[in-house]
Amino acid sequence: MSTQATPTLSLKGIGVSPGVAVGHAFLLDRKRVRTPKLRLAEAEVNPERMRLKAALELSDRQLQELKDQMCKTEGPEHALILEAHRLMLHDPMFVDEVSRLIVEDRINAEWAVRRVARKLKHLFDNIPDEYFRERRSDVEYVADRVVRNLMGQVVDEEVEVPAHSVVVAHDLSPADVAMMARSGRVVGFATDLGGQTSHTAIVARARTLPAVVGAGKASEQISPGDLVALDGTRGLILVNPTDDQLALFHETMQRYQEQEERALATKDLPAESTDGSRIRLVGNMEFPEEIASLLAHGAEGIGLYRTEFMFLDRKSPPGEEEQYRAYRQVLETMGGRPVTIRTLDLGGDKMPGRGKHEKEPNPAMGLRAIRYCLANRELFRVQLRALLRASAHGNLRMMFPLICGMSELREARSELEACRTELGRAGVPIGKRFPVGIMVETPSAALIADRLAEEADFFSVGTNDLIQYSLAIDRQNREVAYLYKPLHLSVLRTLTSVVEAARTAGIPVSMCGEMAGDPVYALALLALGFDELSMTAGQIPTVKAIIRQASRAEARELLSTAMALTTAEEIERYIRMEMERRFRGEVGPF
Ligand code: PEP
Ligand code: MG
Repeated sequence: MSTQATPTLSLKGIGVSPGVAVGHAFLLDRKRVRTPKLRLAEAEVNPERMRLKAALELSDRQLQELKDQMCKTEGPEHALILEAHRLMLHDPMFVDEVSRLIVEDRINAEWAVRRVARKLKHLFDNIPDEYFRERRSDVEYVADRVVRNLMGQVVDEEVEVPAHSVVVAHDLSPADVAMMARSGRVVGFATDLGGQTSHTAIVARARTLPAVVGAGKASEQISPGDLVALDGTRGLILVNPTDDQLALFHETMQRYQEQEERALATKDLPAESTDGSRIRLVGNMEFPEEIASLLAHGAEGIGLYRTEFMFLDRKSPPGEEEQYRAYRQVLETMGGRPVTIRTLDLGGDKMPGRGKHEKEPNPAMGLRAIRYCLANRELFRVQLRALLRASAHGNLRMMFPLICGMSELREARSELEACRTELGRAGVPIGKRFPVGIMVETPSAALIADRLAEEADFFSVGTNDLIQYSLAIDRQNREVAYLYKPLHLSVLRTLTSVVEAARTAGIPVSMCGEMAGDPVYALALLALGFDELSMTAGQIPTVKAIIRQASRAEARELLSTAMALTTAEEIERYIRMEMERRFRGEVGPF
């Protein structure tokens, strides 16, 4: 296979699913439908609404079918993405608005669907959080399906992908990604659009197929049949590589394959050190679609469900029923595994509904999280009622964010009890009592952890905030990012004392900040004695591999040597060097 004749092209994107693949480009070009734009006579309005209703129903049936197929072949978790699409078809923000445009603006259904989709997508565009921004492509997929159905076009056409293809596309719908991943003929994905949390990324990671997204104009620069070498770890795409480059890719491919095989081989094995210390590895999530990937990587439960993401950038907060359904869905999908749902951490950098709240001068220290909830009691109660009802459907644990003192914990718990009594009196079914814990993410909570442990059922350490407040480093400010040091001696001492307080009181202690999933810190956290670490899907196998290869005794030695040093730089250098020495070639680099 000589490729010397054609010049090599090198493209850079975002590596979202690790690994290396070499194959021939298969360009998937799902042509966008041209939307007819018509004005309606008054007599046409009602028939048009009926036409919309029929197209919505057909779309719903198609998605249900796809979902059933996916359940059979991929397992139920993947189907959640399509379930989210079905929910969108029933969402009043979508359906009612389309109907309103047909009636009030007298325009045809296709045009109305496009206009509403554009508006919704625009809302997503302005969200700083990447995951949320990515969801605008869901709006597009759903709108496209409805428009195609209105126009009587074929939807969900299967494409014949040749074996060993690297699929190249402008963007991919979840149904396309899943279908092609399932075909067993695809070795990797490259798309122009997308980020870490796009569907291509989520599905590709779950299927362990290398993927590079956000690669600019890849779909225009790559021609069908081009030889493509893809590095999903470094975000690199080489088109028509030279023989030397190809040989290097094959070498790297071999190495990645061995690493991934070793990591996934342990998926169902416990994260247990060689001397018997067991840590539960669980997942962080913002949206139900992430569960699929978490389970595929061996998550033993959910350690942090950030419920506030359901509240962002919409006109009115989700009501009790909508929240209940969301929590119930997560609990049921996790099938008895522990699910830790955090009550709203709104405020600070996560503001609901634009313009509704005055911007605070110092939002990180302002009215956020539990403070916000205690100041907006009805909003808080709606969530507590939804959680109490959902608790009947799985293994719920609930926690309050940003607790600074005992009064807040008591206040929040008494609100929960009031809701429990209220629902009980009204005869609404609720589950049995569930553990109620707190996030330890302020120095104040850490310093009185011994007292808080008397009234909290568990701790979950939020290092993202704990480090921000301990080191006085604004976690959003790039200028001081170099000072954000998880291995600062003050942080290590704080963690030591929080774990100690939990131990003494006999309550479990977890960590759910970013520090928990970074392999560099895995031995230090094993040494500290955390019962549970909560992280994103892709981090689980590596952290597990490290824990399974070390003993708690040697981890303790490492930590005590590190904590005898003083500066954060010295400690970090020492720990990275030791991790590199112990695990070089297997995981890392550190
Ligand atoms: C944390 O502070 O570590 C945490 C997990 O919460 P969030 O990142 O949502 O503030
Ligand atoms: Mg936090």
